[in-house]
Amino acid sequence: MTVAIPLTIREALDALSNTPDARLIQGGTDMMVEINFNHLKPNNMIALRRVQELRTWKKNIDGTVTIGAGVPYQEMETGELKQLIPALAEAARTVGSPQIRAAGTLGGNLGTCSPAGDGLPVLFALDAIVHLESSDASRDLSIHEFMLGVKRNARNSNEIITAVTVPLLDGWQGYAKVGVRNAMVISVASACLAVDTTTQSVRIALGAVGPTIIRCRDAEFWLSGQFDLSSTSGIDTAVAKEFGRRVALESKPIDDHRSTAEYRRHAVGILAQRLITRAYPS
Ligand SMILES: Cc1cc2nc3c(=O)[nH]c(=O)nc-3n(C[C@H](O)[C@H](O)[C@H](O)COP(=O)(O)OP(=O)(O)OC[C@H]3O[C@@H](n4cnc5c(N)ncnc54)[C@H](O)[C@@H]3O)c2cc1C
Repeated sequence: MTVAIPLTIREALDALSNTPDARLIQGGTDMMVEINFNHLKPNNMIALRRVQELRTWKKNIDGTVTIGAGVPYQEMETGELKQLIPALAEAARTVGSPQIRAAGTLGGNLGTCSPAGDGLPVLFALDAIVHLESSDASRDLSIHEFMLGVKRNARNSNEIITAVTVPLLDGWQGYAKVGVRNAMVISVASACLAVDTTTQSVRIALGAVGPTIIRCRDAEFWLSGQFDLSSTSGIDTAVAKEFGRRVALESKPIDDHRSTAEYRRHAVGILAQRLITRAYPS
């Protein structure tokens, strides 16, 4: 196996042009599992870990944050990024172990595009933009267009995911997940809820209960007619429960080795009810 170790995005794109069959590797926490289990036997790899441009993030003047595809989860869990995007910090904190969070990245979560990826519901709830670059072009895709299905995305093989841009919201936001145990676990069901005080709306996105992450637009719309979302008073328990029920109706879970569709549908409704109650506590 040949491994290219570029130091810049340009060098990485050149390496990809020269070896179009090459596989990209960032933290390796998904890719090395595939290789170790002989699911993949790449002849050429491009290791992105030393590309510093991918490992930085910045706050933009238009009220957004751009996070490089190679920023590890551990950097999202604390510090300024946690203050700016609390739901991302909560999601990052649930990923694997400290070792996995030191290596694993949003770029890798997007590259794999598993519906159980913990970063993805946050990106869906916040309407993130994915930035892609090839040697002769760059394009920006809404996260809603980027994820196509189970482990399928809209990246072309000659493109590198360079970063994601996330709009900053000033309302409450949080992430919750259910797994078969409390730590080191892939989601059985997950949800990210974010309040946008500017548009007075609530967004909710579900993970691991469908082929893609699911935005529950019907439940979001229903809630806006039931409850004053600019309110500082707590949400009525009956409204929170009905919100959870409606969110569960929008999920499309399946039975698999991790759980049953029935349990997933139930769990995701409870997660939604809890998140909206945390957003509007009494
Ligand atoms: C023990 C263990 C526990 C885990 N727990 C969780 C968990 O709780 N939650 C969770 O969501 N995930 C979990 N994972 C999966 C994994 O850690 C995440 O999906 C992580 O985000 C992958 O990031 P990475 O940088 O390691 O990706 P890599 O393994 O380097 O790459 C993953 C895929 O993305 C592609 N890729 C990487 N970077 C780019 C780029 N810049 N442009 C285009 N394609 C790219 C690669 O080619 C590959 O196909 C776990 C994995 C392990 C081994």
